[in-house]
Amino acid sequence: MLETSVSTPLITVAEARERVLGSLSPLPSETVAVADALDRVLAAEVRAAGNVPPFPCSAMDGYAVLAGPAGRTLMIVGESRAGTPAGVAVSDGQAIRISTGAAIPEGATAVIPQENVETLPDNSIRTAADTTAGDHVRGAGEDMRDQATILSAGTPLNPFALAAAVSAGVAEVTVARRPRAAVLCTGDELRAPGQPLGPGQIHNSNGPMLSGMAAHAGAVVRPMQQLADDRAATEHGIAAALAECDVVLISGGVSVGPHDHVKPALSALGVEEVFWSVSLQPGKPTWFGTASGGRLVFGLPGNPVSSAVTFSLFVAPAFAALQGAPAPRPPQRTAVLATEVRRNPRREQAVRVRLHETDGATLAHPTGPQGSHILTSLLAADALAMIPAGDGRLEAGAMVQLNALAA
Ligand code: AMP
Ligand code: MG
Repeated sequence: MLETSVSTPLITVAEARERVLGSLSPLPSETVAVADALDRVLAAEVRAAGNVPPFPCSAMDGYAVLAGPAGRTLMIVGESRAGTPAGVAVSDGQAIRISTGAAIPEGATAVIPQENVETLPDNSIRTAADTTAGDHVRGAGEDMRDQATILSAGTPLNPFALAAAVSAGVAEVTVARRPRAAVLCTGDELRAPGQPLGPGQIHNSNGPMLSGMAAHAGAVVRPMQQLADDRAATEHGIAAALAECDVVLISGGVSVGPHDHVKPALSALGVEEVFWSVSLQPGKPTWFGTASGGRLVFGLPGNPVSSAVTFSLFVAPAFAALQGAPAPRPPQRTAVLATEVRRNPRREQAVRVRLHETDGATLAHPTGPQGSHILTSLLAADALAMIPAGDGRLEAGAMVQLNALAA
């Protein structure tokens, strides 16, 4: 395929990503209740405020006893329930009824499960199995030791991490502030969802797509705004977004046609270009720059697949890094190409692939036609297979690097 603008020096995907990551610093942190911390990124470690479990407790419903052989008759002298310890000690010849999670009474060294005892009519039991010290007893601190680091800074707080933080005795966590993001869609041809289309018009699919991708990447996304292909409207829209946001995503209008006003508008607003044009297909016409106060501006290509691909490769890592999460650096995985792919002589290709696990290998199947307007190529895709620039074809069976497809 011939490149039209051979004069533009193209930077590699890897270089572009490094420049993005090198242009930003993590956002300041804030303290939030654990209940509000789902999917936030920890900015300070969480340490256990005590042992977990806090006290030795039972792993079974049964009887707390002194360990010993089968065939003993033991008098039941009390009960230890979850939340209500027995309040009495157990001694030889005695047992205390106990529930899972209830405190082991003083004197007891083991728990004999309910199914291993025979209950006798006179409030006693006969043991039907041997017990050794420690049987079915969960030791204090088996899960977390007092003061141990349970979660380190940079950890994204999934539901398990939230549970661990609460278990560690924590009510609030220190997390990075969520990035505020704006999505601006340029294009006179764009119509809102469901609006009837006039001649030459299309629906604005990048609006919901980029807003959704930004939200999934942890951003607080301001309502999408559509901008006319007009210099003043473009500059005004970008200025308003810059006043409120840490990250401004602009879709379309970034090329060099007579109706592309994004670059001159950015220049007039003092946004400094870091790169323009990447050796990537789809996604070559990608612009990235910085504004005062550490704000980031991405000019993403209007073609929907190009927008999704460049978001995945450059914007998603930026959102992660802004929140203090370790930015995923490729290759994250490799796979075996299932069918041959024609190479682009000058640009690395990001091919949407479906992944299949077969005996020990991951197979990457391209998801049909790969044009930058084929939005449906994203629907069944699990990842982007990166095909290095080169001549001819990359044959089926070749190993390819995978990049995450942010969604
Ligand atoms: P541009 O980058 O503005 O030259 O747009 C490139 C192609 O993407 C054109 O075919 C546009 O109609 C299309 N396009 C631009 N913006 C959007 C959008 N928000 N949703 C869907 N397609 C778009
Ligand atoms: Mg346009």
